[in-house]
Amino acid sequence: MDKLAILGGSRAVQTDAGDMFTWPIITGEDEEAALEVLRRGAMSGTDVTVQFEKEYADWFGTKYALAHNTGTSSIHSAMFGCGVGVGDEIICQSMTFWASVLQAMNLGATIVYADIDPDTITLDPADVERKITDRTKAIVAVHYFGHPTDMDAIMEIANARGIKVIEDVSHAHGAEYKGRLTGGIGHVGAMSCMAGKSLAIGEAGMLVTDDQEIYERAVAFGHYERTGQIENPELKKFAGLPLGGFKYRMHQLSSAVGRVQLRHYRERMEEIDRSMNHFWDLLEGAPGLRAHRPPKGSGSTMGGWYAAHGIYVPEELGGLPLQKFCEAVRAEGTSCGAGANLLMHLHPVLNDADVYGHGEPTRVAHSDADVRQGVGSLPQTERMSERLFSIPWFKHDRPEVIREHAEAFRKVVAQAAELQ
Ligand SMILES: *Cc1c(COP(=O)(O)O)cnc(C)c1O
Repeated sequence: MDKLAILGGSRAVQTDAGDMFTWPIITGEDEEAALEVLRRGAMSGTDVTVQFEKEYADWFGTKYALAHNTGTSSIHSAMFGCGVGVGDEIICQSMTFWASVLQAMNLGATIVYADIDPDTITLDPADVERKITDRTKAIVAVHYFGHPTDMDAIMEIANARGIKVIEDVSHAHGAEYKGRLTGGIGHVGAMSCMAGKSLAIGEAGMLVTDDQEIYERAVAFGHYERTGQIENPELKKFAGLPLGGFKYRMHQLSSAVGRVQLRHYRERMEEIDRSMNHFWDLLEGAPGLRAHRPPKGSGSTMGGWYAAHGIYVPEELGGLPLQKFCEAVRAEGTSCGAGANLLMHLHPVLNDADVYGHGEPTRVAHSDADVRQGVGSLPQTERMSERLFSIPWFKHDRPEVIREHAEAFRKVVAQAAELQ
């Protein structure tokens, strides 16, 4: 075997990547759709958006889809839709993008972080159960890095107690849990479609639900121009103004591009899924590395493999530090970054910030319980931040190229001792 590139050998990756990593894929079809909106001066309308919503709801098999200007706002609306308010608690995982749950603060609610399962990097249902109190109003289940959360267990826990489940699908468009599309399993699904995500259409978000109450509350919250269509008389009497002062309408450049991207999404996603599974198949059995994907035959899938990661087991590589491992892999000509999202439960915004002038940290301002969680409170979560590495996100199934990238990882694994 060749010497490691970081020690002066030749790189495992020799073939130019070309458009292997280019995303989103934009064609004349997207350009025409965007131009149509621009030329018509319809950027702030809702006609294209309403069509996009119909197509989105068809895809998810839900009664309703409500378009938003960001993923952050779609999750905020989902919380309001579920009736989250002053003094309530929402349970979420700490290793995630902040917008999975931080919005709870401006509804007067607070956040309780539960630990994760170290194989799926999603909520550990047993710890969720331990974190439930009589103030728990909702659970946000994040299908982290595309891996579906154990929704059967989460739904059972929630339904037994009348707690709502919000799925954050921002990493997992098209991912299935036991044959069911994630986002359509909980009481409401919400997701980002910003340009870095696997369904990438600009700054945008989408809420999907079968529940008329959640839908109408979400409309009342951020879509003042549609409040006339609300049926619930308790909400309808406020029609005309948004409840709480937010405006969350989707920009129609996003909805126009979204319609085109959605038409091609399944086919493109399937190619990504083949190529990413191919990459992990080539690394099957490599010491120190574990694929972050559901077992084959489980009926669960990774959708578009947003920000795909692997799990690092340094004990099997003589304790080689993750940073060093990633550096050597990168030298072989592929991408590999150590770590994942900041841990929310340790961040000063959650622990110290008095955002609204309550005279005490916002996290605890509306609760008689101090729910703040310090170092050591979420052992699996804290341990896994040192054990995750990003892998290349292939958009095309080109076996020769994928083989070279997998070889980059194999080579470093085989010669890990040289790096000590
Ligand atoms: C991107 C993201 C969001 C927020 O979406 P925006 O469109 O950026 O507002 C929420 N949750 C997760 C897990 C995300 O990755």
